[in-house]
Amino acid sequence: MKPSVYIGIDLGGTSIKMGLVDQLGNILHTLESPTPVKAGYHQILAVFSQMAEQLFRKSQYEWKDIIGVGAGVPAFLDQQKGIVVEAVNLGWDHVPLKADLERMWMVPIMVDNDANAAALGEMWSGAGKGASHLICLTLGTGIGGGVIINGNIYHGANGCAGEVGHITVKPQGGRRCNCGRKGCLETETSATAIVSDALEQVKGMSTGPLKDEYDRTGTVSAKSVVQLAQQGDSICLEIITKVGCILGNTLAQMCYLLNPEVIVIGGGVAHAGKILFDPLTKAFNKAILPRVAENTSIVPAKLGNLAGLTGAAWLIHRKYTLNKP
Ligand SMILES: [Zn+2]
Repeated sequence: MKPSVYIGIDLGGTSIKMGLVDQLGNILHTLESPTPVKAGYHQILAVFSQMAEQLFRKSQYEWKDIIGVGAGVPAFLDQQKGIVVEAVNLGWDHVPLKADLERMWMVPIMVDNDANAAALGEMWSGAGKGASHLICLTLGTGIGGGVIINGNIYHGANGCAGEVGHITVKPQGGRRCNCGRKGCLETETSATAIVSDALEQVKGMSTGPLKDEYDRTGTVSAKSVVQLAQQGDSICLEIITKVGCILGNTLAQMCYLLNPEVIVIGGGVAHAGKILFDPLTKAFNKAILPRVAENTSIVPAKLGNLAGLTGAAWLIHRKYTLNKP
């Protein structure tokens, strides 16, 4: 029997997701395990190895069935050489991940940034299925972005294409970003931004659902702001509406440059649904020329937190099954 399936890995700062993926992009089995960040690089490779063995025990597959392994990593990478240049959350600096995994597993390995992997996953078997020109935004604690042109990730001159989280959207009076600048898309529209907005509102409040939430738990979460907004709380609704407006306007600017078929919005914040997507679409339509956007749809992501491992598997699928660079 010829090798027929892939292993996809989504390495995050808190957990590692690993799955067996078939040649149509269907996930057959998955596993999740905490990331031993403090134990370091080699311990994380050891966990990869244990997880692969567990996957084989769960399924009828073994190493001879594996075409190759793809991994998405939260990092700046030299994708061609398979070197992780800098992964701040993991404390990695110039590690030869591709070469080390090839030595460990003796199968072809491909690596890419985690946000790029998520975009590829959505293109292969998620909300962007069938599209060749796609932008994918993941709205979580931070904001990840992936740009797909002609069916392949666009990496740019040194792998930084798609770093949309640091597009300046509020040059005056924006919050300070981890990148050192102010008013980035990430500081104004991520889950972290929603929490900051809500905490600022709570300060001036004597009563109300948001204040009750704060008094009960000592803080507020983006999830609770979304839930309160969905229940009709006007202050929370205003926070989510503002996020939608900024996103819609920013996506329109991206469309003038890239003219995508699909814009996929994923991550926890996207679960807000209609209360986010309605103001987003309105702001988008206001900022875009109809001709530019007539073939563009804005849709919520479909694969959830399995997009990354699916797209990581696609990296191998493309190179070793479709024989494309
Ligand atoms: Zn920034």
